[in-house]
Amino acid sequence: MFSELESKSDLEHAHSYAKSYVDGIFDRTVTPTEETLKHLERFEEALPQKQGNSEEILSLLHNYGGPNTVATLGGRYFGFVTGSSLPITLAAKTLSTVWDQAPAMRVISPIGSKLETIVEQWLQQLFKLPQNTAAGFVSGTSLANFSGLAAARFHQLEKLGWNVNEKGLNGSPKLRIITGDHAHSTVIKAISLLGFGYKNIEWVPTDDQGRIIPAEIPELDASCILILQAGNVNSGSFDNFDVICEKAAERGAWIHIDGAFGLWARATKNLGHLTQGMEHAHSWAVDAHKTLNTPYDNGIVLCKQPEALKSALHMTGSYIVTSQERDGMFYTPEMSRRARIVELWAALKYLGAEGINELVETMHQRALQFRDEILKIESFEVPNEVVFNQVLVCCGTDELTQSTLFNVQEMRECWAGGSQWENKKVIRVSICSWATTEEDISRTVASFRKAINTAKNN
Ligand SMILES: *Cc1c(COP(=O)(O)O)cnc(C)c1O
Repeated sequence: MFSELESKSDLEHAHSYAKSYVDGIFDRTVTPTEETLKHLERFEEALPQKQGNSEEILSLLHNYGGPNTVATLGGRYFGFVTGSSLPITLAAKTLSTVWDQAPAMRVISPIGSKLETIVEQWLQQLFKLPQNTAAGFVSGTSLANFSGLAAARFHQLEKLGWNVNEKGLNGSPKLRIITGDHAHSTVIKAISLLGFGYKNIEWVPTDDQGRIIPAEIPELDASCILILQAGNVNSGSFDNFDVICEKAAERGAWIHIDGAFGLWARATKNLGHLTQGMEHAHSWAVDAHKTLNTPYDNGIVLCKQPEALKSALHMTGSYIVTSQERDGMFYTPEMSRRARIVELWAALKYLGAEGINELVETMHQRALQFRDEILKIESFEVPNEVVFNQVLVCCGTDELTQSTLFNVQEMRECWAGGSQWENKKVIRVSICSWATTEEDISRTVASFRKAINTAKNN
């Protein structure tokens, strides 16, 4: 094994396979064909008993793993809100993979600690948040929501004279959890994990775009945690922070914002208005692996009350070595985690504030282009206001929508998923890749046209 590291042959093989994967990414079908999927059988074997051959392992991965990926790196994948990866971030991740750093403590990774410190400051500026806002670098918005809400739980109960770390929730003062009926399922999961019980949520009705109706928010006080959303996972809509946040904060409620992909609107010139007023919140969750286009996995929790976040996620041990500088594990639920900060730092350093503005605004422009082109085709409708990067499409009847979607997916020229919107089946198109060109949009629209025509003729 030592000789493999010494000769670096494995690294060289991996490197050349990676290059050839990237070479084909823009031309291949977006999802693997049935034929290709059959090759997954090659991975079925009993637990190996003897030492393997590293060349063989890599070649198996390259030949039968690579083709069975989904081409999310390319420009015509519109599923979920997946996002591609900027080339610089793939390269930086490759390097940091070999470094194999776990920035739990500075003593384990000085570079990890330094980059986390720098990026925390950059994010404060980029998102126009107070200077002392703390950042924790987690796997994604699921954990960022969890962490922000853990900070909220700690802080709100502490104000009521209860230390939740010591005493738990049994017998604690009651906290009220308030959110919109379009809250993302990871918010609900975090609420369950934190012991609040999702049946105790006070649901606020939403309008036809999925935005909380401000007048429907119940009377708030210091026992409340209010959860808002920047970027509805279907329509892309934003809650009206300007009307809601300042007043709610004055009442003593903790406001957490799930901005998995939408928070990046705040880093733009022309879409920043969508996030106006969210500076009055207390914690924010955002992904780098979606709109910013870093590789998976990369999420961030931001918290205006660093002490609440650190207290909620605190841990000790006789062998732990803390430093005067940043020890990352005090800001995340995990102790060990990979140094995903390297790719995040690389993305921010490469793009700069201007590049981020352009990246995000271009996604919005492509979404508008898609809406305009698809509306020129008979039977297609777009039921949402395209305020950001999400476009919903339906075709008159649920049946026609579903068979159109089926045909789109079968053709593999692009990929979009389905969803339900206002009691109607819809096709969900999420434009969140740096690689999506105007031509990609037109090719996608052409694919949708073919799909609906085939559906109508059957
Ligand atoms: C994607 C998403 C999440 C979950 O984020 P992960 O990074 O997948 O954990 C939460 N909320 C919204 C609005 C999302 O779009």
